[in-house]
Order: sequence, then structure tokens, then C-alpha cells
Amino acid sequence: MSHLSERIKEVELRIEQACRRAGRSKEEIKVIAVTKYVSTETTLAAVKLGLAHLGENRWQNARGKWEALDREAEQGIIYRPTWHYIGSLQTNKAKDVVGKFTYIHSLDRLSLAQAIDKQAAQLGIIVPCFIQVNVSGEDSKHGLEPDQLFTFVEELAQFSSIKPIGLMTMAPYEAEAEETRPVFRALRELRDALNERAQAANSINTVTELSMGMSNDFEVAIEEGATWIRLGTVLIGKEEE
Ligand SMILES: *Cc1c(COP(=O)(O)O)cnc(C)c1O
Repeated sequence: MSHLSERIKEVELRIEQACRRAGRSKEEIKVIAVTKYVSTETTLAAVKLGLAHLGENRWQNARGKWEALDREAEQGIIYRPTWHYIGSLQTNKAKDVVGKFTYIHSLDRLSLAQAIDKQAAQLGIIVPCFIQVNVSGEDSKHGLEPDQLFTFVEELAQFSSIKPIGLMTMAPYEAEAEETRPVFRALRELRDALNERAQAANSINTVTELSMGMSNDFEVAIEEGATWIRLGTVLIGKEEE
């Protein structure tokens, strides 16, 4: 536990330093604690230490933790965390995730938008979503091609229970974090271009958020404009199964 609180402090310091280099305020950066490598106990400890946003990439693995923390929150033992679904999402799993995970970071196709929208409408909620873009072009990465983005956003307008709030990407793993910079910069430029188009069309549908940066490269992502960083290993650690 004390180990965890030290890690949290260390990461906060690194965030502050990156913000200083970039001339940003640290309030602009929100941290999602990615708990996919750790137990329910560790997840609970993280929430008790004040981490309010949790990320998971598979419902099957997240379910036990989600349910345990839901019980603790119901009993008033912890503040209810805000869950972020950050992994690729099968269309038939949308009904499991919508309503439990406040944010979805992996919206990358219309069939998924339709499934999310349907479930959200049934629950009477609006789901804030990040559109995942495959900036690096790696085959292994999910996400839209950058040149599909503008059309995709226009098509999303038909789904009234989805609110696109930003873009998400994963950079390739690089031994030198600096090499991820062009990927993060490109995502920021895509967001800005999207907003210029919206403004030119007198649309109020601007997207502000950038979900980018992981343990290996979050400082570079902050320097390039990240507003949400997704941290697993460096923040929460990795436990053996
Ligand atoms: C696992 C994961 C993370 C966190 O990974 P770390 O490198 O451990 O920080 C972030 N984003 C996504 C989409 C992930 O799947």
C-alpha cells in the first residue's frame, strides 16, 4: 500500500515536470489508473488513495473488480470511481459495458456506435466517447485511419445517445519515448483540424479531449497536449497472476 502511494507521488511529480516544460497547468491532465494487471485488492487500495478514474480493457477481466467496487461504493466505504473502457470493444459486449463504464475510449466503427447508442438510449444516458485513431498505421493497432475521421464524425451525428468528446490513440512501443512524439502530435493536429471544420460549418460539436500516453510515453504525450493519460505499470504496477 505504501508502495502504491509512493508510486502515485512519483507519477504526480513527473506530470508536473512535463507540464512545466510544456507551459501547461497540471489541472489540464487527468489520470486514468489502468488496473488490468492488478487484483481487486490493489484496485480498491488505489481508489482509497484517491485515484478516481479507473481503466480496464476487457469486460471479462474487469467484471469482478467492477462488481466488488460497486458494492463498496454502495456501502459508502469508498467514493464511486469513474470507469473508462479503454480496450477494443466487440459489438455484442457493448451492452455489458454501457452504463457501467462512463467513458468509452475505443469507438472506431459505426456498428459499435450503433450498439453503444442502442444500449445508452435504453438506459436513458448519453455516453461520452473518444474516437480511436490508428495514427501510427501499425496493423496490430485498432482504430480508424486518419483520413476516415471526418466522415466518421459526421456519421456519428445520427446517434443521439453518443457524445464524441475527443480522440484516442496508442503509440507504438518505443525504447526511446521521444520517438512517439510524431504520433501524439498528429493526433492533436487531427483534433484541431476537426474543430476547424466544425467551426467553419457553424457546428457547436467540437471535441476537446486527447486520450494519449501510457507508462512508457506519458510525458511526451503531455508535452503534445494530452488531456487524459492512461497509466498501468508505472502507477499501479503489475502483479503476477
Ligand atoms: C494496458 C493499457 C494501458 C496502460 O498500459 P501501461 O503501459 O501499463 O501504462 C493504456 N491504454 C490501453 C489502451 C491499454 O490497453
